[in-house]
Amino acid sequence: MDLFDEILDKAKVAFDVAVKATEDVVDTGKQKFNIASLENKLSKDYKALGEIFYNFKKNGEIDGEAAEQLIAEIDDKKAKIELLKEVMRSAKADRVCANCGAVIDNDIIFCPICGQKLEFTTEE
Ligand SMILES: [Zn+2]
Repeated sequence: MDLFDEILDKAKVAFDVAVKATEDVVDTGKQKFNIASLENKLSKDYKALGEIFYNFKKNGEIDGEAAEQLIAEIDDKKAKIELLKEVMRSAKADRVCANCGAVIDNDIIFCPICGQKLEFTTEE
């Protein structure tokens, strides 16, 4: 494979990842799963950090490097969770039915109250 092909290949991969990310943003079910999965990993990090702290209080021994690593990972996961929640909040912005005034989730096409087809615009 020559350099040009290699660059094209990398660009295609980057594009696929971008498309995948966009699809993921739209899929709120998947977002919920991603958040739950991150929160699960986060609680495992807290547990591991708690063990390090326990050993420190008990034996005066501390694995500083492991603790630093865990704190960095916790911060990283917390930031990702916040970002995912923010994405979900903006995706789920409520709309108002033009016909009956009911407040409806953004991912519903027909008003569950009156059956009116909803436009994809957010009303304040
Ligand atoms: Zn309606």
